[in-house]
Amino acid sequence: MTCDYIELALPGVRRLSPYQPGKPVETLERELGITGSIKLASNENPLGPSPRAVEAVRGCLDGLAFYPDGGGHDLRHAIAAKLRVAPECVTLGNGSNDILELLGRAYLGQGTSAVFSAHAFAVYPLVVQATGAEARVAAANLPEHEQPWGHDLDEMAVLIDATTRIVFVANPNNPTGTWLGADRLESFVAAVPETTLVVVDEAYFEFVRLPGYPDAVRWLGRYPNLVVTRTFSKVYGLAALRIGYGIANPQVADVLNRVRQPFNTSTPAQVAALAALADNEHLERSIEVNRAGLEQLAQGCRGRGLAFIPSAGNFLCIDVGQPAMPVYEDLLREGVIVRPVASYGLPTHLRVTVGLPEQNARFLKSLDRVLTAKGRV
Ligand SMILES: *Cc1c(COP(=O)(O)O)cnc(C)c1O
Repeated sequence: MTCDYIELALPGVRRLSPYQPGKPVETLERELGITGSIKLASNENPLGPSPRAVEAVRGCLDGLAFYPDGGGHDLRHAIAAKLRVAPECVTLGNGSNDILELLGRAYLGQGTSAVFSAHAFAVYPLVVQATGAEARVAAANLPEHEQPWGHDLDEMAVLIDATTRIVFVANPNNPTGTWLGADRLESFVAAVPETTLVVVDEAYFEFVRLPGYPDAVRWLGRYPNLVVTRTFSKVYGLAALRIGYGIANPQVADVLNRVRQPFNTSTPAQVAALAALADNEHLERSIEVNRAGLEQLAQGCRGRGLAFIPSAGNFLCIDVGQPAMPVYEDLLREGVIVRPVASYGLPTHLRVTVGLPEQNARFLKSLDRVLTAKGRV
């Protein structure tokens, strides 16, 4: 081969390193020849989806030969009704990552910039770099802040200038679990120039029941540059189906609609999401399991003298007080998959998804074994 096909790619693409997903159970078990493993690595719902969503998927199997409704009419209208916005404001995505990517494709490129925080969701730098735009990374809160390693909106604001087309704000953020209150976030949005889109990523919105936590959708009428993204991958337990959405003013939604693939969301995904949206009981049960599990993990950490970042999501970022990679690898041998977050600039933390009570207990027990072996505590 005389041609280097990596060199041939666009400059932004050449410099990308692929997203590192949580290790699937099947991969681990194949690699280590073990069984009975658990995955607490990708912030999935341990209860799975609503049974009504599963039933809806079964019900659409006879129609698999037909292309989906590309506009996702029924789901889009149901989301709009639930959120009390016009259907023209809603764009469906192949996961909410798709919406983030569509925003990048439509608004970023050479000569533009985008702003996000250190320790923010890994997809932001990927989206930005691929377009050739400049990625500006704001310093995060200090470890002693009440939202340690969380977004510092003042630091983010100073990086925004006339070239900045997008600022990404994750509320709550992954992997830190930190969150922003309504007053602080709204004054930030209000101060951002209209030529910069503020993308508020609310992937964990439904889990948060904290006083002062905002529903950014309510601000859409006031700020035409605001975009809110949400997903069915997390609390709704439909990560495999890839379905999420963005809510924005109709012009931005129109732009996203121009760049999206005509059939970016599948029929099974649309019908499952529609059914999931109507099952409030499953939603509430999922939120309660998470609340209790988060407390179980936090108590477990306190009892072991391990620091953690207070979390508003369905995961806990735990400081193991030493390089976390070997701890992660030893946990794998215990059949427990969690997420190392060194690539997020947190080399001594592990991010653990809240599981069922017995899964959380198993993680804590395995962590004890791993930390005491080799005298790590
Ligand atoms: C998981 C996650 C998403 C959404 O992922 P999709 O499965 O593509 O919907 C978006 N933002 C953050 C911060 C996340 O953690």
